[in-house]
Amino acid sequence: MLVHAIGIDIGGTKIAGAVVTELGEIVEEARRPSPADDPDAMVDTVVEMISDLASRHEVSGAGVAAAGFIDAAQSTVYYAPNIAWRNEPLRARIEERLPGLDITVDNDANAAGWAEFRFGAGRIYSDMTMLTIGTGVGGAVVVGDRLLRGGFGTGGEIGHLRVVPGGLPCGCGARGCIEQYGSGRALLRMAGEIADAGGIGRPLAEAREKAGKLDGGIVGGLIAEGDPGAVAALRELGGWLGQACASIGAVLDPQIFVFGGGVAVAGDLLLDPVREAYLAHLPARGYHPEPEFLVAELVNDAGVVGAADLARLHADAR
Ligand SMILES: [Zn+2]
Repeated sequence: MLVHAIGIDIGGTKIAGAVVTELGEIVEEARRPSPADDPDAMVDTVVEMISDLASRHEVSGAGVAAAGFIDAAQSTVYYAPNIAWRNEPLRARIEERLPGLDITVDNDANAAGWAEFRFGAGRIYSDMTMLTIGTGVGGAVVVGDRLLRGGFGTGGEIGHLRVVPGGLPCGCGARGCIEQYGSGRALLRMAGEIADAGGIGRPLAEAREKAGKLDGGIVGGLIAEGDPGAVAALRELGGWLGQACASIGAVLDPQIFVFGGGVAVAGDLLLDPVREAYLAHLPARGYHPEPEFLVAELVNDAGVVGAADLARLHADAR
C-alpha cells in the first residue's frame, strides 16, 4: 500500500491542503481562507485542516509550507513576511494539538521546488536549481538529490543574489539583488522604460495610457502577441536571469535550471535570452556541458505536493 502524507501550503489569501501519495498524486484537496493577520487563528486553521484530512486517510505525517525563513530543523518560523510570525515554534504548536502525527515546516519555495525535482521537470536529475519568477524571485536548490537548506535553514534564497554592486535598493535592505532585475516587478519597470522611449514602445505606451498603468496581464498579453517592445523587455529580464544562472552554475553546477511563476508562461521567449546570457557569462565557456533550461511542469499544486513529500521523507528518516 502506498504511504500518504498531508501537505499544507499557507498563502497570503488562502491555505491549500492535500493528501498526497508517494508518487505525488493528490487524493483529496481542501482549501480555506487565510487569516493572515491573526497568527493564532492561522495555527487553529492549519490544525483543523490536518485533523480533518487525517480523519479520512492513513498518513505518515504532515508538511506545512509558508513564505519566510524557517530554521534548519524544520521547526521554527524565524520570520514570515506576510504573517505576523516572529520566532514562531510552529511545529511544536501544531504537534502538541495533533499527538502522534509527525509535523515538518518548510519554506514554500523549497516545497514547490522539491515537488518539481521529484515529480516535475527535474525528476530525472540529481542537481537542480529552480527560480520562481513572480512578483519577486524565489529559489530552491537541490544538490545531490537533497534539498539545500543551509546551516541555518535559510539557504537557496536566490532572489537576493547580488548582480549589480550598488544597484537598485531591494526590500531585503541590500542593493542590486537579482530580484530587482529578474522579477515580474522588474519586467513592468523595463516595459515602462521601453514605453517612455517611443519607437517599438508605442503599443506599450498606448496600453498604459488606456489602462492607467502597466500590469502583468497587459505586458504578458503583448508578449504573447509578439509585440516587439514587450518582447524586448522580456529579453532584458532574461539577460539578467541568465547572468545570475552563470554565477549559480559556477558554485552549484546544476544539470537543470527550472523557471516557475507567472513570467515563466512565456516559455522559450524567456528561456532563449536566459540561455544566451548564461553561455556568455559562463566560466570556461565552450568546455562545460550545457545544462537544461526548462519551465516548471507543476503549477498550482507544487506547494502542497512538495510539503507532503518532504514530510513523508522526514517521517521515513526517523
Ligand atoms: Zn535583496
